[in-house]
Amino acid sequence: MEKKYIPIDLHCHTNHSDGALSVRDVLNLAKQNGAQYQAITDHDTVDGVAEARSIGDELNLNIIGGVEISVTWQKGNLVHIVGLGIDENNQQLVSELAKLRASRLERGRRIGVNLAKIGISGAFEGALALADKPESLSRTHFNRWLINQGYAKEGKAFERYLAPGKPGYTQQTWAELSDCVRWIKESRGIAVIAHPGRYNFTRTKLVRLIEEFKSYGGQGIEVISSSHSLIEQENIASLCTKYDLLASCGSDFHQADGFRKILPGGNKAIPLGLKTVFPYLGIDITQL
Ligand code: AMP
Ligand code: MN
Ligand code: MN
Ligand code: MN
Repeated sequence: MEKKYIPIDLHCHTNHSDGALSVRDVLNLAKQNGAQYQAITDHDTVDGVAEARSIGDELNLNIIGGVEISVTWQKGNLVHIVGLGIDENNQQLVSELAKLRASRLERGRRIGVNLAKIGISGAFEGALALADKPESLSRTHFNRWLINQGYAKEGKAFERYLAPGKPGYTQQTWAELSDCVRWIKESRGIAVIAHPGRYNFTRTKLVRLIEEFKSYGGQGIEVISSSHSLIEQENIASLCTKYDLLASCGSDFHQADGFRKILPGGNKAIPLGLKTVFPYLGIDITQL
């Protein structure tokens, strides 16, 4: 019988980036939720992966090494690429990610200055206090601080202050798509376009991204993501088939009380007929 839900989660955050929970708390929650395969994919870092592997051994939970890399594609488009099955000890990957993260603190200062201009003071210091590591400082931390301080309701701070074109936004140049895919491949991982439905690209533009991504050796795309509507999911599934990509699935979990009510540890099943990333990650779906 066709499964509706699978105990596989290939996209998830911890407090090594902008997730609210420690690696241990995320994995406990995933396990409670029935997880059998859990990837840790923090933004621009693999710092949580080694710890996840040892906790995974304790919990009898299979850990997939991962990362979510911030990319600036064709001047000004922010795109996220997930690397799955990576070797977290790969020197090139670790050192290139460290360079990317080094720019986060300075960007945070600029966001703070921009918010001060519209009368919101103390945002940089406030957001920084919410980040477990200064180099992980993310718009997510600004989002939480703005909500905590009453500047916006849950789910509204991005559209008011932090999204492109809004007062707190500041341009940032992240990795090149070609470099990002190469770092992932050279650390034995497979590259996956994260949550394509979130970019608000036209179909033509998304196809351009897919074609360029494939030309560098990118292989996968998230068909199942907590940020996709059913219609987006169907559109992406059709692109997945048409462009011969491997389908992936991820909760993109950040925190238990987030405005998207999702948990780590599992996902809706990938639509029948699509090729998946699973065999490339040692996952035999027929055994689950
Ligand atoms: P950054 O990497 O610092 O630019 O922050 C991007 C992060 O902000 C993403 O990884 C999401 O976790 C979060 N994010 C993006 N858009 C939204 C939104 N509309 N509401 C809440 N969080 C968001
Ligand atoms: Mn995030
Ligand atoms: Mn993302
Ligand atoms: Mn993510």
